[in-house]
Amino acid sequence: MKSLQLTEFGKPLQWKELEKPVPKGNQVLLKVDACGVCHSDLHIWEGYYELGDDERMYIAERGVNLPMTMGHEVVGTVESTGSDVKGIEPGETRLVYPWIGCGTCKYCRTDRMQMCLTPSSLGVFSDGGYSDYIMVPHEQYLVDINGLKPENACSYACAGLTAYSALKKTIPLEEDETLVIIGAGGLGMMAMQVVGELTRANVIVIDVDDKKLATAEEIGDFSTINSMNEDPVKAVMAQTNEQGAAAVIDFVNNTTTAASAFNMLRKNGVMVMVGLFGGKLTFSNPVTTLKNLTIRGSYTGSLAELRELIDIVRDKKLKSIPVQTYSLDKADELLQKVKDGDIVGRAVVKP
Ligand SMILES: [Zn+2]
Ligand SMILES: [Zn+2]
Repeated sequence: MKSLQLTEFGKPLQWKELEKPVPKGNQVLLKVDACGVCHSDLHIWEGYYELGDDERMYIAERGVNLPMTMGHEVVGTVESTGSDVKGIEPGETRLVYPWIGCGTCKYCRTDRMQMCLTPSSLGVFSDGGYSDYIMVPHEQYLVDINGLKPENACSYACAGLTAYSALKKTIPLEEDETLVIIGAGGLGMMAMQVVGELTRANVIVIDVDDKKLATAEEIGDFSTINSMNEDPVKAVMAQTNEQGAAAVIDFVNNTTTAASAFNMLRKNGVMVMVGLFGGKLTFSNPVTTLKNLTIRGSYTGSLAELRELIDIVRDKKLKSIPVQTYSLDKADELLQKVKDGDIVGRAVVKP
């Protein structure tokens, strides 16, 4: 099989000819149909996260060993299965849940594998979908997408799931309350696509790019704020009778957006930090106490949430976010485009 591998952080990916593995036990080998290019691939490729104040967190110190095949948003066709696999046959198309844990810790035992302390996530800690084949350790991680196109479905494994799980951390919200979505990139668009299925709250979308905000207005009945043109905190206050937002999801989560998110929270507000753009948040301790605020992170989501999300997308026939499909050869170029913010919606590669 041919895999496009990360062999050195910050260097172009390398094609490697590897022996096609044979699945054993509960393993399932899939032929990759489509794989999303995610913003977190960019960080893995670069080898670090910006922590603010010129500090960095290095991926190599987090247990990522090279060479490694990136790609954690994968839809594939079952090629062959191990002898213990039940309920799935070669030729079937499945979405891969990549956030696989150790299987034995308290999080893994209670369907919160994405919270595992020793994860082996596909495309992050073990080989993923920038390849013509991917090995999945157990059939339980395969989700039926019955009817959805692979290029539209693949990004639900990370972008969609991350957005969905972040939204779930803000509900219930009532009709007269405001939810702010910061960032109208791939994740923000996924959130906009599904938010109406979870709450009737008023939704405000903030971004710095008018093109992305225009796309947001096509997706749903959202008001938009371009934070390059106006102070987003003042704009949110003006739109909420000076009350502020009951919840803010920050899909950018850099020093600037996180400070805005904090400052636009209403009493009892919830701030969900999702983006990995880097930076630091400085906030007032007494304000947090007096306003009874919740500030929390949100990393991907559970297997059950992925199944819920796919059911919603299928049953409600939700429109896909814009998807641009490329050959896997273009991965390096696409990562650069992701870095430059040049992708509207999602870039997907096919081997
Ligand atoms: Zn991702
Ligand atoms: Zn675990």
